[in-house]
Amino acid sequence: MAYKAWFSCIRGCAETYPLDEVVYSCKNCGGLLEVTHDDGELKKRSAQEWKTLFDERYRRNAWPYGSGVWGKKEWICPYVEDDNIVSLYEGASNLFWTERFGNELGLENLWVKLCGNSHTGSFKDLGMTVLVSVVKQMIADGKNIDAVACASTGDTSAALAAYCAAAGIPAIVFLPKDKVSTAQLIQPLANGAMVLSLDTDFDGCMELVKEVTADDTIYLANSMNSLRVEGQKTVALEIVQQLDWNVPDVIIIPGGNLGNVSALGKGFLQMESLGLISKRPKIVVAQAQNANPLYRSYKTGFKEFQPMQAKKTLANAIQIGNPVSFEKAVKVLKEFDGVVEEATESELAEAAARGDRTGMFNCPHTGVALAALIKLVDRGEIKSSDQVVVVSTAHGLKFTEFKLGYHEGKLEGIESRYANRPIELPAKADAVKKAIYETLNKKA
Ligand SMILES: *Cc1c(COP(=O)(O)O)cnc(C)c1O
Ligand SMILES: [Zn+2]
Repeated sequence: MAYKAWFSCIRGCAETYPLDEVVYSCKNCGGLLEVTHDDGELKKRSAQEWKTLFDERYRRNAWPYGSGVWGKKEWICPYVEDDNIVSLYEGASNLFWTERFGNELGLENLWVKLCGNSHTGSFKDLGMTVLVSVVKQMIADGKNIDAVACASTGDTSAALAAYCAAAGIPAIVFLPKDKVSTAQLIQPLANGAMVLSLDTDFDGCMELVKEVTADDTIYLANSMNSLRVEGQKTVALEIVQQLDWNVPDVIIIPGGNLGNVSALGKGFLQMESLGLISKRPKIVVAQAQNANPLYRSYKTGFKEFQPMQAKKTLANAIQIGNPVSFEKAVKVLKEFDGVVEEATESELAEAAARGDRTGMFNCPHTGVALAALIKLVDRGEIKSSDQVVVVSTAHGLKFTEFKLGYHEGKLEGIESRYANRPIELPAKADAVKKAIYETLNKKA
């Protein structure tokens, strides 16, 4: 195999490590690692040849290239043998042209990348397929790995449990007790993972899982493990591919631990360095006001960074006060004319519901991104002719408590301006007709 990739330090230390070494941070400075590819080898194919190859594979059936991630295998993780790839046909999710919502906001060209249309209902599948495939390859190569573990705000554990179950590898998930949705809790249970429900928050779970995975036979699956970022960066590749290899003007993405925005930026930089694109989008990270350490840092021009105690937010997957990938995210924001915006609980809930009225089915995190979009449009920072892509991170069906609470008007401090409730009626035709005609303003 000619294509090569390895771990290197994001702060530029000389040390590198093979992808099958159990290593999560630089042994020299403690900084995060990233996967680096042999660009020289990749440049032997022209930009046009890459585009043609990726288009030929997209959504087809030849294992494993029909997957949105593995269709770009050479760019992601060339070393895993096809037989050891653990894929659930992730990626290749719909880029939804949200015409009606765009019209409401005065935007001509608004798109929502529906990353939640995936096996476990969130973008976490994109990264987990790479990580679990590497683990399967390591086990096949005789490495001693007994289990894979992660701390999670809900979606990471669902993805880890599913991919491990498909591969027959034991999974251990560390969840903050009572802070994840029912769907998020039931997924790892159904997939047979060992589920630890801990009396702490995500940041507390993260500390614990780091301690447990200091034992090299228990492999750490959190996004400080940069293998996940490699899979997640395909969101950038796919957005551009789905726009016929054009780069949008603005991309808005919700951020918690900040692995996903780091991945988004990495995907664009790789396309740029291999000549597939020649411009960069503006990248906007949207945070919940109750868990906004990046926003606060942004307000100081990234001069200061204070981890915070994240407060409860409806956007539970981004209730993170000490984001692991902070440094990577700031680098990306500096290179992509970056903006950070925040949304209150009310703003995120109303934005999600308003979007739903035009055919979306938003999770609260996507609500945070849509609320940021609305603010930037109101401030004139996004113009009507701009091509804008909002990254939707999970499927609304994982968050039915949130959505039901909204429509029942039971979410504290939220007006529920777009609430819609069932109309209870006797099972009588005239009563039913009367209600319908009244609603449609029709004469009987
Ligand atoms: C994990 C997650 C996020 C945040 O992604 P980070 O990489 O932690 O910034 C946002 N939305 C959903 C639904 C998630 O599961
Ligand atoms: Zn280093």
